[in-house]
Amino acid sequence: MGRRHRRRHRGVRHRRYRHRRRCAGRGTPGAWQSPPRNGPYPPRRHPDDRDFAGTCPFHGDCLEGLASGPAIAARWGASLSELGPDHPAHDIVAYYLAQLVVAQQALLSPRRIVLGGGVLGTPGLLDRVRDHAARMANGYFGTHDYATLIVAPGLGDRAGLLGALALAQRARR
Ligand SMILES: [Zn+2]
Repeated sequence: MGRRHRRRHRGVRHRRYRHRRRCAGRGTPGAWQSPPRNGPYPPRRHPDDRDFAGTCPFHGDCLEGLASGPAIAARWGASLSELGPDHPAHDIVAYYLAQLVVAQQALLSPRRIVLGGGVLGTPGLLDRVRDHAARMANGYFGTHDYATLIVAPGLGDRAGLLGALALAQRARR
């Protein structure tokens, strides 16, 4: 790679960075009608979970209607942690979350997918999501390394709160 090419490449990166800063300063980037959400994603049903109608008031069995904390409580009467690691609920919920991972790989081609929140704090669930996602993708995206792709938030349960604080600080500048 020549010096001229490198210089041009640096320029492109710099312009993109400035553009991102401008968009972030205005709040929600103009291309979106509303902030992107994963909840309404419609997953394929798990073979052992065909009868539950789902809890989403808009769609019934969208991802949120099948795999959120309230959906788990409505279906099995307890949280995943309370149900214990041998309960089939763990595999069913992981199956749905893995479909979201594969969809995001197809749409956005991310290097990392951070999965956190109440349900995903269940011990062992992230590994089940990785296993299901690797099986579903079946090498299509050129990687089998789902332990690197799918990670827990570095700030744990405080990620949402500290992220909101960071945005508030940036808005004040
Ligand atoms: Zn929904």
